[in-house]
Amino acid sequence: MNRKPFSESVSFVLLTMQKRIVIGTSNQKKKGEIREILAGIPVKLLDLEDFKNAPDVVEDGATFEENATKKARELANYCKMWVMADDSGLEVDALGKKPGVLSARYCGKETGYKEKCQRLLEEMKGVAFDKRTARFRCSIALADPHKLLLVVEAKCEGLIATVPHGFKGFGYDPIFYVPEYGQTFAELKPEEKNRISHRALALRLFSERLMELVQ
Ligand code: IMP
Repeated sequence: MNRKPFSESVSFVLLTMQKRIVIGTSNQKKKGEIREILAGIPVKLLDLEDFKNAPDVVEDGATFEENATKKARELANYCKMWVMADDSGLEVDALGKKPGVLSARYCGKETGYKEKCQRLLEEMKGVAFDKRTARFRCSIALADPHKLLLVVEAKCEGLIATVPHGFKGFGYDPIFYVPEYGQTFAELKPEEKNRISHRALALRLFSERLMELVQ
């Protein structure tokens, strides 16, 4: 009889026992970052694209946490397995924490980021440097089809620059200045940004809590 070697059988059993988690985003950059940071955790990460007709969850929460939780719960209910979902954005103190949860929809969903950044800088005209405090926030939630399993949040503090600087990154990166580095997110090397960003910090926190959950 053609038997599998013992070690191969053990690996097969462990693999089938492994918890499976669907990454609830279609953003390729985010997916790459999530896979990289969760690489050491014994879970199998699945792609939302493998679940045809997954609902496009309406992000109508008042906080990042509410939106991340809502996305994770609705998608987990649809996929019938664990789903992790995130929400992030920029809070500017001088603008009453705008654009906040509306960061992607600031000045309209279809408006490009060059214009969004310009509009934000116009709104900030005349605001002194020390009053230009802002932060990126990121919430990540994990849910099964019946309940929320965990939710974490992290932030990265900075200042809104007076003019855009740098061409790396995406979104509001050219106007988000990090005093400790003397550069905007768009000037930092990707590996530097990925060490200090709200998303990287939230993902690390998430990976620690997830490890406790699956052990
Ligand atoms: P979401 O988390 O994909 O919904 O993104 C929300 C919004 O926040 C988008 O408009 C992004 O451009 C912005 N945003 C989130 N994280 C970052 C970042 O690291 N840099 C620049 N913009 C960001």
